[in-house]
Amino acid sequence: MEEKKVHDVAVVGCGPAGLSAAINAAIRKKDIVILGSEFCSPKLHRAPRIDNYLGLPGVSGEELRQAALKHVAQFGLEVRPARVETIIPLDDRFQLLTRTEVYEAKTVILATGVVEVATLPGEEEFLGRGVSYCATCDGPLFSGQPVAVISDLGEGEEEANYLAGIASQVYYIPLYSASYKLNPKVTVLQARPRAIHGLTGVEGLVLADGTKLDVTGVFIIREATNPDRLVPGLDMRGTAIAVDREQRTNIPGLFAAGDCTGRPYQLAKAVGEGQVAALSAVRYLDQLR
Ligand SMILES: Cc1cc2nc3c(=O)[nH]c(=O)nc-3n(C[C@H](O)[C@H](O)[C@H](O)COP(=O)(O)OP(=O)(O)OC[C@H]3O[C@@H](n4cnc5c(N)ncnc54)[C@H](O)[C@@H]3O)c2cc1C
Repeated sequence: MEEKKVHDVAVVGCGPAGLSAAINAAIRKKDIVILGSEFCSPKLHRAPRIDNYLGLPGVSGEELRQAALKHVAQFGLEVRPARVETIIPLDDRFQLLTRTEVYEAKTVILATGVVEVATLPGEEEFLGRGVSYCATCDGPLFSGQPVAVISDLGEGEEEANYLAGIASQVYYIPLYSASYKLNPKVTVLQARPRAIHGLTGVEGLVLADGTKLDVTGVFIIREATNPDRLVPGLDMRGTAIAVDREQRTNIPGLFAAGDCTGRPYQLAKAVGEGQVAALSAVRYLDQLR
């Protein structure tokens, strides 16, 4: 069997923090894999005019986004559009699970950004008892049962299509507008979810108009994943990943940068922390030798 490649650095997230980390690690000749969303980064894209990024007054987020992707490409790096669902720290490396692949790396830089959204009533209560953020991990538990997928982004369509082969019924609730690429077995509902309910586990999902869907599983796909759910055992300070001044987390070999480490949610901080995280990862790798 072919041995799995173990990268020096896996960068999770392809916003300004992740791309800055990748470029800085590439300059130090490290082997890098960047795992990001299909669009890097929706947040930067939405910034209409940026006046506080040194040297580029009035630049739009979209201009910077394109320039950053071009810069990364000049280093021969490419972003693999893959949503990381779980990161497992092993003795000498990390395993990063996406829906279809497993990647391995000696160090990981988390640069997943932050999306401040309220959780649905019932979401925390039934997490692990019918509520899930990962169809690949938990889909098989719902074999032959009805489920709903609530998604902020197009990647949820892949999750719903995957579940269509397992569940008895899949409702897809997109919280974005686009043309959907869905298996005909998936039912699209243009609705807002209001609450998840049940007794010991999920028994249904209530929509804003009062309709109740009889489902036993609810999959929630958001732009940013709560980091402590991505990496078991990760220390947090409130909703931010706890890091020191070298962007080290409590897990050796795991670093974090950008909005995911807390306020201020700003571009220059993200780019700067990306660089520090990369240099710390390089130092960590050099010590392993
Ligand atoms: C409207 C608006 C205006 C703004 N204006 C300014 C401004 O004027 N000045 C300023 O300094 N800042 C501004 N910002 C803030 C700035 O855009 C952010 O601080 C910056 O984008 C943060 O970079 P980041 O890399 O940490 O996170 P993000 O840019 O959010 O990137 C994170 C990336 O990681 C991906 N990701 C998340 N989870 C996973 C996963 N599990 N697997 C794979 N990929 C994942 C996300 O999809 C995303 O692409 C503005 C933001 C907005 C929305």
